[in-house]
Amino acid sequence: MSIPSNIEIARTAKMKRITAVAETLGISEEAVIPYGHTKAKLDLEKLDLKARPDGKLILVTAITPTPAGEGKTTTTIGLNDALNRIGKRSLATLREPSLGPCFGIKGGAAGGGHAQVVPMEDINLHFTGDFHAITSANNLLAALIDNHINWGNALGLDTRRITWRRCLDMNDRALRSIVSSLGGPANGYPREDGFDITVASEVMAILCLASDLKDLERRLAQIVIGKNREGRFVTAGDLNAAGAMAVLLKDAMLPNLVQSLENNPVLIHGGPFANIAHGCNSLIATRTALKLADYVVTEAGFGADLGAEKFFNIKCRKAGLKPDVAVLVATVRALKFHGGMERADLSKVNIEALSKGAANLQRHIGNLRKFGVPVVVAINHFAGDSDGEIAKLIEIAESFGCVAHVCKGWAEGGKGAVSLAEAVVAECDKAAADFKPLYPDHLPLIEKVRVVAREIYGAADIAADVSVRQAFSDLELAGFGRLPVCMAKTQYSFSTDAKLRGAPEGHVVKLREVRLSAGAEFVVVIAGDIMTMPGLPRVPAANGIGLNKDGQIEGLF
Ligand code: ADP
Ligand code: MG
Repeated sequence: MSIPSNIEIARTAKMKRITAVAETLGISEEAVIPYGHTKAKLDLEKLDLKARPDGKLILVTAITPTPAGEGKTTTTIGLNDALNRIGKRSLATLREPSLGPCFGIKGGAAGGGHAQVVPMEDINLHFTGDFHAITSANNLLAALIDNHINWGNALGLDTRRITWRRCLDMNDRALRSIVSSLGGPANGYPREDGFDITVASEVMAILCLASDLKDLERRLAQIVIGKNREGRFVTAGDLNAAGAMAVLLKDAMLPNLVQSLENNPVLIHGGPFANIAHGCNSLIATRTALKLADYVVTEAGFGADLGAEKFFNIKCRKAGLKPDVAVLVATVRALKFHGGMERADLSKVNIEALSKGAANLQRHIGNLRKFGVPVVVAINHFAGDSDGEIAKLIEIAESFGCVAHVCKGWAEGGKGAVSLAEAVVAECDKAAADFKPLYPDHLPLIEKVRVVAREIYGAADIAADVSVRQAFSDLELAGFGRLPVCMAKTQYSFSTDAKLRGAPEGHVVKLREVRLSAGAEFVVVIAGDIMTMPGLPRVPAANGIGLNKDGQIEGLF
């Protein structure tokens, strides 16, 4: 029997009407803004949640992944279903998928197997139009910039130093670097320009960190779009752009409610990149969830060295969130890979490689504890895992002072994650968490980077040439020294070399570039190749996607 694909499983879902899903959270119908029958936005004004206490916040993160992904989203959904199954009022909050990966390299972002969120086709494609709104707001600002230059450039913008780029939610390498305004005087002044994918736009990061519409507009006005001829920053506020951008984003600021295959509520809202942005769903969705449920399970992109670090140091710091427990997803396969096995051999039993690769797990556990957050290990079970390897992994995790539970959410849904859910509840009940960010606001920017490199990556030190050091001191002079840093590096290694597996030590993190995200309120520090407009592979997933004779979508994972 062949294994059904994610979309085939999703199609068998018996979805409830979204108003009924909302009802399970005690949300009245008037606070639900339906987008069709199975998706809705929540009207925050009508929800009136302020008086309610916050639930427990559970972060799902992972060991250093292999290119296949270790199953954070799948585990998040499985755990949320399991918590509901054992009678807890639990809500998962996730990022919205981008169209880029959907049509590029096969791989969904709404979970997998029997741990999925539905309607998965909608969620993976246009959903409720949030990405359209973000794209439009981004491009409105771009249009206003070129229009300003066209009509005399009163702000004295240096057209060679405009950093604001256009965006599109598509993998399209042809648009990475372009020349705009070609075709004669009626079309403006030609300049070098380029497109990023929408999820890499600063507008996305802003939407995800803004606490309300007022804060959104304040942050939009702060966006630095480039420099004037004196070399000073020019902002979106200088162009009077923030009001109109906020108008475009008004509805996109409301969190989206959908359901899992088991009809449990899930909020999916916002989807910033995990490299040049912080990689987790909107603050509004997380805060709303904490008021609506007793347990909130959320995911941060990439491995814990990037995703969890930014979740803690950027999002939790800014928003005053206090995570109660971190669930660290590990797989037998990835640990064997870290232990030196090649990808093609990972289906072979190899306790020795597993034990060796566990150094990666150990480093991540230690790192998470540095934030004062207790750790539960979730072993995302794959069909080929042997009982001996699973038993060994549980034993190894215990030797690091953690409980580890097998999670079979992919194969069995919530039923397969009950022991994990019980362990998470037990950890929350202990109330042992004492969250603190890793560095204080007042530490100089470059020292913040050094702390992350040494404490989280296990590096000996950082290296930065004169131009990078100058960029840090310029930002401090301009008043941005108190911002947190947003690290952009490979997710495949603790180091900046994607090939260095396990838990490398003594390496040096070379800083290549610094970029200010003044509206998102972080400083992006780039230590590797960062692609803000991906390309499509030789055989894109798009080639296998189409409509069948019944008009249903086929091939979307
Ligand atoms: P992440 O969020 O860590 O990137 P996902 O949960 O999206 O990972 O999973 C990545 C891919 O792996 C998805 O296509 C998912 O269906 C698949 N997957 C996840 N867990 C399992 C599992 N236990 N067995 C088989 N496939 C899985
Ligand atoms: Mg994911």
